[in-house]
Amino acid sequence: MFIVTNLNKFYQFSLLNLQRIIGAFLLIMIVVFPSQAQNANNGIKKIVIDPGHGGKDPGNLGTGRYKETEKHIALDISLLFGKYVKESFPEIEVIYTRKTNEEYPTLIQRTELANREKADLFISIHCDAFSNPNAYGTGVYVMGMSKLKANMDIAMKENSVIYLEDDYKQNYEGFDPNSPESYIVFSLTQNTYLGQSLQIAEEVEQQFATRANRKSRGVKQAPFYVISRANMPSILIETGFLTNPNEEDFLHSEKGKDYLASAIFRAFRSYKQSINQATLQVDNKEFKKEEKKKVAIKKIVSKPSIIFKVQIGTYLKDMKNSTKFFGLSAEEKVVNGTFKYFVGNTSSKEEVDKLRIKMVKKGFNGAFVIAFKDGIRINVKEALSLQK
Ligand SMILES: [Zn+2]
Repeated sequence: MFIVTNLNKFYQFSLLNLQRIIGAFLLIMIVVFPSQAQNANNGIKKIVIDPGHGGKDPGNLGTGRYKETEKHIALDISLLFGKYVKESFPEIEVIYTRKTNEEYPTLIQRTELANREKADLFISIHCDAFSNPNAYGTGVYVMGMSKLKANMDIAMKENSVIYLEDDYKQNYEGFDPNSPESYIVFSLTQNTYLGQSLQIAEEVEQQFATRANRKSRGVKQAPFYVISRANMPSILIETGFLTNPNEEDFLHSEKGKDYLASAIFRAFRSYKQSINQATLQVDNKEFKKEEKKKVAIKKIVSKPSIIFKVQIGTYLKDMKNSTKFFGLSAEEKVVNGTFKYFVGNTSSKEEVDKLRIKMVKKGFNGAFVIAFKDGIRINVKEALSLQK
């Protein structure tokens, strides 16, 4: 009896310990591998919108004809853009680095907020300035070193707000916005997200040019501090030059702000769609069967004018000779300084989906399906409904 009780106790003790060990192990798994757990939740759930400047930092002053400066316009466009996101995608969490013109978050605080929140996208919104009032147009930047003086100048100018902080030397670990040597130590974390950053950057420039009727100055790489430290796809948008009187008037008008915010929103929507597509995993066999049936019907009635392709990547340089492209007969399209590559040419969505999966397996992780109607790019959903 005595032995049995003790044995029971022993088992109880072991069981309790085992539970504790498993519990601790699971906790370690969660703490050590949070990113994996996060990656399992695909798609875009949270974005950080960063209106440039604020508070004691007015941003650029433009021609001086208006009381409001860059900080005011950046905030107005940011809030409008965020409003459009919320209206169309209420499930997406929109976080602003500032919501008023009185706030002055430092550059470090802005990126730390985005990293802490584990946002899926970081968009910084600014207005440009130049000594020559004739300069105008929009530009979208992704993180990267640049040999071009113009790109370096604008990055240095935007980074120089760091000087407004009393203890900037400590806060930025000796980083000096005006010293070219400082840029050598710039974090390369953004390389991981370069493909996706380029993709949304290109969408924004295209929307600015086609829908907002702006002069696109293209997608460029420059070492902006605020996008260099974000652990997620990040872009910095220059919505136009406040030093150009015409553009300044446009940027100060309600219509102008709305055009730019809507263009950024449309670019976001299209980027979101491609991300969802790239991460979508159809593992439900029943669903697949159902889809096959649908596709079979569609094939019979499909109109030849609809063509599907897989976009395998957007780059800042010509990639045709890169080893990654070896053996691929990829189509190249140069838009706004970016190089886009496509494979496939089919009217069957089923076929193009298979091709996309093949491309993902080849290492083109962000590969997504695009559609054309009579050679003009259209929404995939739209293409499918036209085939019905
Ligand atoms: Zn700025």
